[in-house]
Amino acid sequence: MFNLQNYIGGELRAARSGEYLHNYEPATGAVYSRIPASGPADINDAVEAARAAFPGWAGMAARDRGAHMLRVAELVRQNLDRLAEAESRDNGKPVWLAREVDIPRASENFRFFGTAAEHFSSEAHQMADGSINYTLRRPVGIVGCISPWNLPLYLFTWKIAPALATGNCVVAKPSEITPTTAFLFSELCREAGLPPGVLNIVHGDGAGAGSAIVSHPEIKAISFTGGTATGKHIASTAAPMFKKLSLELGGKNATMVFADCDFERTVKETVRASFANQGEICLCGSRILVEESIYERYRDAFVAEVQKLTVGDPKEPTSRQGALVSEAHMQKVLDYIALAREEGGTILTGGKRVYPGGRCENGWFVAPTVIEGLGPRCRTNQEEIFGPVVTLQSFKNDDEAVANANSTQYGLAFSMWTESVHRAHGLARRLDCGIVWINTWLQRDLRTPFGGMKNSGVGREGGWEAMRFFTEAQNVCVGA
Ligand code: NDP
Repeated sequence: MFNLQNYIGGELRAARSGEYLHNYEPATGAVYSRIPASGPADINDAVEAARAAFPGWAGMAARDRGAHMLRVAELVRQNLDRLAEAESRDNGKPVWLAREVDIPRASENFRFFGTAAEHFSSEAHQMADGSINYTLRRPVGIVGCISPWNLPLYLFTWKIAPALATGNCVVAKPSEITPTTAFLFSELCREAGLPPGVLNIVHGDGAGAGSAIVSHPEIKAISFTGGTATGKHIASTAAPMFKKLSLELGGKNATMVFADCDFERTVKETVRASFANQGEICLCGSRILVEESIYERYRDAFVAEVQKLTVGDPKEPTSRQGALVSEAHMQKVLDYIALAREEGGTILTGGKRVYPGGRCENGWFVAPTVIEGLGPRCRTNQEEIFGPVVTLQSFKNDDEAVANANSTQYGLAFSMWTESVHRAHGLARRLDCGIVWINTWLQRDLRTPFGGMKNSGVGREGGWEAMRFFTEAQNVCVGA
């Protein structure tokens, strides 16, 4: 058992209350560390540290800010194994997945925005009489970054990096459910010599530490990734304070499989799009829509492939599926499976908790689950489950596929599987979602706009979008 600490003003310290929250290992169900139960007093300390650091950091040459960030990126890379093991232990995901995806991407986030700092530029507009307008892009000041538990260090750094690159000082809170890599990251920031107060990491729950960030009058922008209900709550506090808001929220993504797809590849890739990270990725496709003429063939091949996914100890390289992040989340997923049965769905595979035995006997594992026989309007096909559960539905033609894909309150990321470029191109612009993948899934170029339409969010992250979000545009007009 060890205690994590907050990172405030360059120092590691306990919460002012001296209280701690339990941190669990999902694979065993046991408590293994404690995190500071921070609240408004700790957020005040972090804001004070950020205020003191701001003039130096904002006034530093972009190249030097970038150099600090590149040092952090390099240390994350050097600590790949340690961070991957910590991420797996905290979240339940397989170690191999954290090694291949989460931690390299965290390093890449800092490298990408560290170099972007130097290349960021703004516009100039010349007028007919020779007057010239130029745009200054000034850092917002002190900003708040709040991230979820599913891709802990990956999403935490995805927010912090553009904020720092543009000269802001940050008060950040990782999810209380997966705090460890953020704590290890704060140690690496100290080792990298990041100036004290530039980044402050405060641990605690949403009600205590999270809401204190959102409501703090000196924190001028909030970048949040999490559930739609939490996003709504955050907006209700931040909007009347006129804070800038970036909200990356839930999804209920469609995977659209057409009869002219590359069949074998589509089956393989759509299994990954359904169950990667135990289905706990906001981008996972949870509603698979299949063209009628290949429905049975696809269903049988898909189910056979899903049954090959080994559920087991996240430490084992052979485990394709690890544990779900918490007991409460596992229960939520099992409740949705029960609901799907009540709504008339047929469970084709999975549908139950798994007990892998050994040290994982009490862990929170659920078998990858495939359901058919439900229409688009039922709750199972409308609400976000955020676990290893997908449904299969068939469609007759493109119009029906589009209508079904667009039928939920969400609009985050859809994928389409067809060999017809013409068809895919035509359909993409009819889909109400922020990201469309064609014959690929989770292929990320960090320069592209990232985010959702409808209740999946407000604003976009990624590339210049994120750099603009974390800056205030000021127009300066010089008369002729
Ligand atoms: P939550 O909304 O429960 O929590 C997200 C973060 O917000 C956590 O750090 C949480 O703290 C904090 N929080 C909770 N309540 C408040 C509050 N009142 N004020 C401020 N902060 C608060 O989401 P989950 O962690 O459960 O993550 C899963 C959700 O995230 C899913 O809906 C998923 O779709 C979405 N998501 C969206 C992505 C996107 O890019 N669109 C990417 C990844 C996930 P704590 O955990 O300590 O309570």
